[in-house]
Amino acid sequence: MKDLIARAARELAATRRAVALTGAGISIESGIPPFRGPGGLWEKVDPMEVAHIDAFRRNPQKVWALLIRGMQTVLAKAAPNPAHRGLATLEALGHLQAVITQNVDGLHQQAGSRDVIEFHGNFAWQRCMICERRCRSEELDLATIPPRCDCGGIYRPDCVFFGEMIPPEHLARAQQLSAGCQVMLVVGTSATVHPAAMLPHLARNAGARVIEVNPEPTPLTGTVSDYLISGPASKVVDALASAVTALRPTLDG
Ligand code: NAD
Ligand code: ZN
Repeated sequence: MKDLIARAARELAATRRAVALTGAGISIESGIPPFRGPGGLWEKVDPMEVAHIDAFRRNPQKVWALLIRGMQTVLAKAAPNPAHRGLATLEALGHLQAVITQNVDGLHQQAGSRDVIEFHGNFAWQRCMICERRCRSEELDLATIPPRCDCGGIYRPDCVFFGEMIPPEHLARAQQLSAGCQVMLVVGTSATVHPAAMLPHLARNAGARVIEVNPEPTPLTGTVSDYLISGPASKVVDALASAVTALRPTLDG
């Protein structure tokens, strides 16, 4: 692992056009469980029953009870970990252009990242399905669910459900960054949710190095990514940011 961290640090230090793609794995050590895998939500409920827009339209009360309310409680307690902070450091040092995240937890911004593309939106905000009024999630009274706006409309999280389109401006910018980067750091994503999963392919086809950080191999490993740094994000990304920082005096001087 040490050799690969040193190699990735050299590649990151040598570019101003790196981009990170992050997924639920980067926030696990912040106390937010992923959906897939052991203990994940999908072991208990069917994604199509709780995370599809049709399911929400059919039975918003059920989706609020099984998914949204619980997620909000978990997110309210979560704080950024060294992996989020490491990416913010790489941006501040001028190597990382942006973070494209599939997460809805806002932890990248809390850690200090400035350019964050929230591919799937953010759970911190809600919007009324009738009048489009937006409000912060913590302003809502969840004594009765689904919560309703003064106009009578139901509030929904300002995120992308399965069956919905990624906001076109986010998709376009993510594609442009991916196709234009020299290094893509793919952290904590199983790369199975489309269209986010195709971004590493875009980067690779445009000639970028694709570096994965994940304790487990993914469908990208050995095909799309150049190498996998196998380990938890907090440890690996923190070590990467320190190694890039340590390389800078030689670069600058
Ligand atoms: P995923 O659940 O499909 O995969 C998580 C990945 O993280 C796996 O590949 C796993 O091996 C890896 N992982 C586990 N522990 C790790 C660690 N300590 N460090 C690094 N990686 C680790 O996640 P996904 O690909 O992001 O897709 C899930 C979808 O669900 C996303 O689109 C997202 O919108 C949503 N989601 C978001 C959150 C959040 O906002 N934090 C949480 C759960 C799900
Ligand atoms: Zn309304």
